[in-house]
Amino acid sequence: MNDPGQPREYARELEASYSAVPRAINEWFGRCHCPCASAHPGDEGICEAETPVTTHRFETGLTGPVDVPLCVPCAAAQGVTELTAG
Ligand SMILES: [Zn+2]
Ligand SMILES: [Zn+2]
Repeated sequence: MNDPGQPREYARELEASYSAVPRAINEWFGRCHCPCASAHPGDEGICEAETPVTTHRFETGLTGPVDVPLCVPCAAAQGVTELTAG
């Protein structure tokens, strides 16, 4: 049987998954994604998913260099900027 609802349903799913992409990117870049536990184990938990102000290039064995958004506390903890006090 030809169900006319089927293609439309599919198109809606497709549209939904496409519109989810920019939202996911936005969420990804909207907060800090520093691998705190490995990047600065001594200061784990200093960032509460703060707004990133800079990016830092991490080498991941799988994908090669990746620019990861960093917030100020994370950047400072890694010595990326001159923000470290003392
Ligand atoms: Zn961090
Ligand atoms: Zn952070």
